[in-house]
Amino acid sequence: MSEIDLRSFIRDVPDFPKAGILFRDLTPLLEDPHALRAAVHAIADPFRGDGIDAVVGIESRGFIFGAPVALELGAGFVLIRKKGKLPAEIVQEEYELEYGTDVVEMHADAVETGQRVLLVDDLIATGGTAAAAVRLLEKAGADVAAASFLIELSALGGRRMMGVDRIHAVLEY
Ligand code: AMP
Repeated sequence: MSEIDLRSFIRDVPDFPKAGILFRDLTPLLEDPHALRAAVHAIADPFRGDGIDAVVGIESRGFIFGAPVALELGAGFVLIRKKGKLPAEIVQEEYELEYGTDVVEMHADAVETGQRVLLVDDLIATGGTAAAAVRLLEKAGADVAAASFLIELSALGGRRMMGVDRIHAVLEY
């Protein structure tokens, strides 16, 4: 496939969801078949042959990329969800929001001790969500080998929050 400019498929929406936030909207990228395929490959490519056992996606945009990345890597797919969505026994982790706290949850048996997992999400901003996901996975015994994002808002320094050595981002803003 010829090189595709993925950045041109990201729409900047000022002041969403509130004043002062520049929202990086990736729905135009999802709607284009070539851009979608190229994005999935770009998220997965650095981890081919790395012995990743499972790809972990964070609700909800992490699911869009996580499942096809898992297929690309020949790995299974594990869900990290918002509070109250998963039916079986769960483990959970709280994290700070601008105002208050939120909780992420995962099935207690979703990962095995020592399993090498790749964390996938659409975008890393402050890193709060991804860091909570890492703590949750480590609490459950997984080895978080790396994390991969489509977009990194690098000025916010989110990657330093995560405690993961190998962090890949396809597009940096
Ligand atoms: P954070 O916990 O701050 O790293 O934010 C993580 C999630 O918030 C990402 O997975 C995005 O879905 C969403 N998000 C945060 N900031 C933005 C932004 N400027 N544009 C689009 N999505 C964002």
